[in-house]
Amino acid sequence: MSKQVDATIRCPNCGKEYPVKLFRTIWGEHEVNRNMVLNDQINVPQCPHCGFSFKAPYPFMYVDVKAGFAVWWEPQHDPGIDSDARDYATMFGANSYYATAPRIADWVEFKKVILEYYQGKRVGGKIERLNMDALKKEANPPKQGCLGALIALVVFSSAFIGLLLL
Ligand SMILES: [Zn+2]
Repeated sequence: MSKQVDATIRCPNCGKEYPVKLFRTIWGEHEVNRNMVLNDQINVPQCPHCGFSFKAPYPFMYVDVKAGFAVWWEPQHDPGIDSDARDYATMFGANSYYATAPRIADWVEFKKVILEYYQGKRVGGKIERLNMDALKKEANPPKQGCLGALIALVVFSSAFIGLLLL
């Protein structure tokens, strides 16, 4: 299932903060989701105060379980992806497409890589096993500290974009 997280964004235009839900995982085998990514509509919050919208620089994973591949968009280094990759290696195997998903910083390149999987130019590693213990661990709510860091990351990045727009 696609996964969303709650975050607080500071509007780069008016400087006010507002709560948003951002995708951390998006399931690309659903056409609606795939189009949202390929048309640059994913994680584009709109400010309720001034109407300004922008692309949140929030890392997320594009997964297509039918086509058997996954790709991270990682605009800046996210240590959470390091630990996710380790968990996925335990859960699905070290060579599985979940554990070996490419981490792409550039948005245009990210979409190009997704299309290369659909075109067969890239092939995702097979799921090697399904470790239920690891799944149980994954089902626990995220640690507060981790989530706080992610939110700070988003707010910081938004502020940075605000500076660029001045
Ligand atoms: Zn605003």
